[in-house]
Amino acid sequence: MSKVLIIADRVVAGPAEHLIADGAVLVDSGVVVAVGAAAELDVSVDAQVPRLRCHGATVLPGMADCHVHLAFDAGPDIVGAVVDTESSELSTAMADRARLMLAAGVTTVRDLGDRDGLTVALRDSIRSGAVTGPRILAATTPLTSRGGHCGFLGGEVTTDDAIRAQIARNAEAGADLIKVMASGGALTPGGPRMWEPQFTAAQLRLIVREAARHGLDVAAHAHGTETIGQCVDAGVRTIEHCSWRTAEGIVYDSAITGRIVGHDVAVCRCVSGDWELFLKQMGSERAQQMAEVIQEMRGAGVRFIAGTDAGVPGARFGDYVGMLEFFASLGFRNAEILDMATVNAAHALGLRDTGVVAPGMRADLVVVDGNPLTELDALRRVRYVFAAGRLAVRPDNG
Ligand SMILES: [Zn+2]
Repeated sequence: MSKVLIIADRVVAGPAEHLIADGAVLVDSGVVVAVGAAAELDVSVDAQVPRLRCHGATVLPGMADCHVHLAFDAGPDIVGAVVDTESSELSTAMADRARLMLAAGVTTVRDLGDRDGLTVALRDSIRSGAVTGPRILAATTPLTSRGGHCGFLGGEVTTDDAIRAQIARNAEAGADLIKVMASGGALTPGGPRMWEPQFTAAQLRLIVREAARHGLDVAAHAHGTETIGQCVDAGVRTIEHCSWRTAEGIVYDSAITGRIVGHDVAVCRCVSGDWELFLKQMGSERAQQMAEVIQEMRGAGVRFIAGTDAGVPGARFGDYVGMLEFFASLGFRNAEILDMATVNAAHALGLRDTGVVAPGMRADLVVVDGNPLTELDALRRVRYVFAAGRLAVRPDNG
């Protein structure tokens, strides 16, 4: 792979507050080999190396969407769509969705529930270079209870032996992590309510232990306050949604948040790009309550990571920035938001080679017009995306 020297008005080296004005990034064979002042690198780097001069632009680390479902089509009937689509057709659609995300500057995608492990095949063809796309981490089949949330994906387990067997099957299929639907959800007709637990505390501990035996972390879908606490105590790596629901409405528990922070559990507070509509449907009182809880968690030092739940009804692929704008609407600083999308996400996902722009890191890079630290909207003006050093998006091919 050839070398390139990217020169821009600024480089967000990451964390986002670490900014190099008039910076440059030297990429060689898919890896960042130097980051620094453009004036110095322009002189020191061999004149034969091509320069990509990006006036008015910012280079930042490739972003991560920590919660997507590539097998879902974001339409009104995803269950029908995912169950009734043939594997080859579904695989093609998944590759298209992955490309949409890459075009939005997302170079890492964590898929938290697919059908038949199709994401693993896509991951591998992207990794081999046969297909252009973001790096994928695949959870394959999510564990759920009998008749539980997303049971249509085939991961219903009731006994301890069934839990062990499903985790072994996922590991065998090439899963990068284990996903458990620890509480109910909104997608599955007749399933448990969102606040209701789908597993016991002992089962959650078993899931984490078994996953660890296969070298895998656990991401837990958890809406219910009780379930969130049990997941944290069981040792999951990330809590998905974390909406603090009970039969009586939102009941926030700051003691659980203390344990979330203490155990370095990351929270993926999934929000689609369409969040304004979602808030409207929620009603202003509940929306206000939800905002306050997120602020409390932020104040307590929770490590938030960025995720869209793309694929579920209304959560379109490629509207990644819309999700980030939700956090801006709550008063998060742009630097904090960029960290959720980059360095914090990489940490939570166990990826040590992405999330910041530094020598030795994978060249997962996004070049945008303007400065996303002062105007988040700049992230919508993607000029180039490099995925592991490969120029995957450029203006002439959209
Ligand atoms: Zn999801």
